[in-house]
Amino acid sequence: MKRIELEEALKIYREAIRRWSLQSQITMLAEESLELAHASLKILRNPNLKKLAEEIADTEICISQIEDYFNLGSTIEYWKQKKLRRLKRRLSKCL
Ligand SMILES: [Mg+2]
Repeated sequence: MKRIELEEALKIYREAIRRWSLQSQITMLAEESLELAHASLKILRNPNLKKLAEEIADTEICISQIEDYFNLGSTIEYWKQKKLRRLKRRLSKCL
């Protein structure tokens, strides 16, 4: 299977929004987020890592579309760094 690189992925994200609308793709993000939540909740009772990975991939693709559309990359990175620092602080207090 030929790997789709970032430049082509961006074209696909933009075409999806152009063809099906931003509203539709935001709805898809919400739907896929719920499917990921469902797969996450089931993982302890019925370990299905393939399903979990599939739902993570679906959600990441939807996130990437919305991230690209609203140009949120640097803002998301800012929040990731901030939240990782907070998590690191909490972990250091638990020792
Ligand atoms: Mg899904």
